[in-house]
Amino acid sequence: MALKVNEIFYSLQGEGTRAGRPCLFIRLTGCPLRCTYCDTAYAFTEGTFMERETLLAETVRRLGPPRPGPNAPFVEVTGGEPLAQGETPRLLQELLDLGYEVALETAGSHDLRPVPPAVVKIVDRKTPGSGEGHRWLESNLEFLIPGQDELKFVLSDEADYHWAKAWCEERGLFQRHDLLFSPVWQRLDPRWLAERMLADGLAARFQLQLHKLIWEPERRGV
Ligand code: SF4
Repeated sequence: MALKVNEIFYSLQGEGTRAGRPCLFIRLTGCPLRCTYCDTAYAFTEGTFMERETLLAETVRRLGPPRPGPNAPFVEVTGGEPLAQGETPRLLQELLDLGYEVALETAGSHDLRPVPPAVVKIVDRKTPGSGEGHRWLESNLEFLIPGQDELKFVLSDEADYHWAKAWCEERGLFQRHDLLFSPVWQRLDPRWLAERMLADGLAARFQLQLHKLIWEPERRGV
């Protein structure tokens, strides 16, 4: 079965606890959300269909054979919203079966149950400022594995920060999960966020999107 693929590119992981690691990105086409700050709107519809076998062969060609180690070959399936395509969980399992470390970037609006547990899930909990906060599936919290998966908050403004902090506190998440707080590019002042997190003693990780600092912010394929 085929998946619609927007782009495949080799770059540095720009976010999360694995930031800075070389990574092959498979960006799938399609997303039912329309976040106010979306920087990948080109992935809503653009793309070509590729058989899963072709995608797997392309992964091996680009990454080389899997090998162990802390910075082993790493592949991330992203979007768009990758879980909007029904074949994605099978692709994730087949990438794992090849022996690679595999990550999935998702908005948490689709059920995580079919995602193989060994996949590193980077789940973007949409805030009110995104305009899509209501899409969140609360049951997805059950499928996050402490020490492996990450919960990300992309904050549009100060109100988003206070909302995210309270949301995590209510659920005891600061004691359980790796939480990433990052400012929306050119919307929330990174310094304000960093200082606020320090002042509040927040047990969360501040992050900026590395690729936007290294290359032009609008550049594709990085
Ligand atoms: S979930 Fe991601 S791809 Fe979809 S609209 Fe939001 S930011 Fe864009």
